Amino acid sequence: MNAPRITIPGIDRLLKHEAAQALLAAYGHTVLVDALRASVAGYRDALLAGAPAVDNAEQFILDEADAALAATQASTLVNVFNLTGTVLHTNLGRALLADDAIAAMSAVAAGASNLEYDLATAQRGHRDAHVETWLARVTGAEAATAVNNCAAAVMLILNTFAPRKEVIVARGELVEIGGAFRIPDVMTTAGAKLREVGTTNRVHLRDYADAITPRTAMLMKIHPSNYRIEGFTASVPEADLAALAHEHGLPLAVDLGSGTLLDFAAFGLPHEPTVQETLAQGADLVAFSGDKLLGGPQAGIIVGKRELIAKIRKNPMTRALRLDKIIIAALAATLRLYGDADRAREKIPTLRLLTRAEADIAALAARVLPAVREAVSGIADVAVQACASQIGSGALPVDLLPSCALVLSPKAPLGVEALAAHFRALPRPVIGRIHQGALWLDLRCLEDEAGFMSQLQRLAAGA
Ligand SMILES: *Cc1c(COP(=O)(O)O)cnc(C)c1O
Repeated sequence: MNAPRITIPGIDRLLKHEAAQALLAAYGHTVLVDALRASVAGYRDALLAGAPAVDNAEQFILDEADAALAATQASTLVNVFNLTGTVLHTNLGRALLADDAIAAMSAVAAGASNLEYDLATAQRGHRDAHVETWLARVTGAEAATAVNNCAAAVMLILNTFAPRKEVIVARGELVEIGGAFRIPDVMTTAGAKLREVGTTNRVHLRDYADAITPRTAMLMKIHPSNYRIEGFTASVPEADLAALAHEHGLPLAVDLGSGTLLDFAAFGLPHEPTVQETLAQGADLVAFSGDKLLGGPQAGIIVGKRELIAKIRKNPMTRALRLDKIIIAALAATLRLYGDADRAREKIPTLRLLTRAEADIAALAARVLPAVREAVSGIADVAVQACASQIGSGALPVDLLPSCALVLSPKAPLGVEALAAHFRALPRPVIGRIHQGALWLDLRCLEDEAGFMSQLQRLAAGA
């Protein structure tokens, strides 16, 4: 007896299939044909290897192509649940944007705009205008500019005012922020010479005064960000440094790093120097990040004296570091929310999450506990425990915020790494923190409760 004839559908025939039409519309002819060829080849190889023929080969091949296309065309950049307990997590994208900022980004992305066009005079405008007015209003600065990030802002300040000249910095402030941002290296790259003063733990005004020579271009103070020196320490207040710098006709620049526009102490959080305070103490230029405590998009903001900002704008490097219109729209919309502190705290996710009440987080933990317990009953025990969140991104590194976590202890033979991997494999990956053999899900940053709950079923199914 002859074996039944097996037909392998041709590409033209597959393209005419009803199910191909949606794929054609979604991916285009070239991409779809390539995927179909690969699926046909895969099917043929399987048959040759002895696999049984399927009933509806056309449908089967189209389904295979559909799945392959969905996998390859899916974005590699996806949203996750940040339950690490670090609110501003650099690896997880730092600040979440306010709804107003998101709306402003889509609006400006969709049409032509007056990005560099003065509507009143029909003359060329400057893109800084869209953020400068609000930065000046909120911080009291004479002028402002914004570039790609705070690292770029610091680089730009050094390159504008101190090429081949010396910048005086306290030894205790020669920080590494993470990645490749180390103050001594940034100085070199910007073409400036670092003049270190003081010791690791102590620096005095006379150390700065003794170091000033005709080669000095500026004094600089850098927020130590991710570490704190405690014990027998001394640093020089900005006001004294500013007075010394001005006596010698030099500018004082301050890299605040996080830089907040609101008094965190008013929210019951530890005090972090504000941009306003730093300017009021006499700093001539202050640099800070857009996506740290400010709660906006990635940007580096420089505020300060008008003539200094004007000089920065003339540096050709500014062009290479400038902000895109979409970021400008988001930054401006975020800044507008700072007109009112309560409104900012409510509408800017970073501020909302940092000031979230412990009781609110505990109530959330109690609400989600039964469903989580049920979903992971085969693989882990779950308890609610008090924990401590971190601000992140170098802001107040030592201060912790009381919070509440779901603590998942894996049931043998499952290990905690495998348990964490189950959560990362969800459609919207859940990222927690492994601590003492358990997976901790700090709920401070969980706002989309429904989205979180809707995925739990999959954990049960996959376990
Ligand atoms: C975070 C930080 C920077 C770098 O800011 P980015 O916006 O990430 O480039 C620079 N200086 C200090 C003191 C910082 O804390």
